Amino acid sequence: MTKLLPFFVILLLAPFAGASDQRPVLSLVIDDLGYSFKQGKAALNLGSDHTYAIIPGTIYGKKLATLADENSREIILHLPLQASSRLAAAESNTLTESMNENQITLNTVAMLSEFPNIKGINNHMGSHLTEISYFMRPIMESIKAYRSQLYFLDSVTTSRSVAHIEAINSGLDSVKRDVFLDNEHTNPESIKFQFDLWLDKARDTGSAVAIGHPHPETIAFLTENLPLFEKNFRFMRLSELISAAKTASRLLEPQAYLTNFE
Ligand SMILES: [Zn+2]
Repeated sequence: MTKLLPFFVILLLAPFAGASDQRPVLSLVIDDLGYSFKQGKAALNLGSDHTYAIIPGTIYGKKLATLADENSREIILHLPLQASSRLAAAESNTLTESMNENQITLNTVAMLSEFPNIKGINNHMGSHLTEISYFMRPIMESIKAYRSQLYFLDSVTTSRSVAHIEAINSGLDSVKRDVFLDNEHTNPESIKFQFDLWLDKARDTGSAVAIGHPHPETIAFLTENLPLFEKNFRFMRLSELISAAKTASRLLEPQAYLTNFE
């Protein structure tokens, strides 16, 4: 077995071999929390167990992190990275290609320390920066050095993203987003279509990760539809999905497990 058997391959092959509950697993991440307390709170009130990505430096970020903690919800840092479009709205703390490696590292650590209870990180935007290993490597290495147990979720805002592979290369657990639920959030048919893609992917491969946003239309759709699928699917926060996949991979490939996750 090669030294760096990618974690995501194991995840795709047989996520939960040996587990008694064979239902496909759905992981839902709600991005972009922090600008609206009302919408953030509505997202945190969704039934079942999901993951919430908070943008650092936002007016309600810390308050929502506290609320998430009080309600035993999993939070991750929604790390702002430079998009390819100059028209895309950027956060004031967005990491950009104008920064040197030292600035990238210092800014990453400053944002990580804003929310003490995060379990992982995913990228906010980043269709430009995630394509460049020169920037993604120090970001992943500083995350690993900051707290080695943190995981990375590649939001995959560009098909040429190297974030996932650089996370693995730095020794982080890493997963990739499969489906965006609400790129057309004002169109309920589009949300339904994307929601069905998420279910299909989970049925096909055993698990699937979707990202949605706290738009009122999305939250209304999820509030109505998530309960309909609780019988035939399992909902898992990302840390649970990763730990279940690691357990399954250990059952399948003991040597690979020891090599990669010790
Ligand atoms: Zn975002």
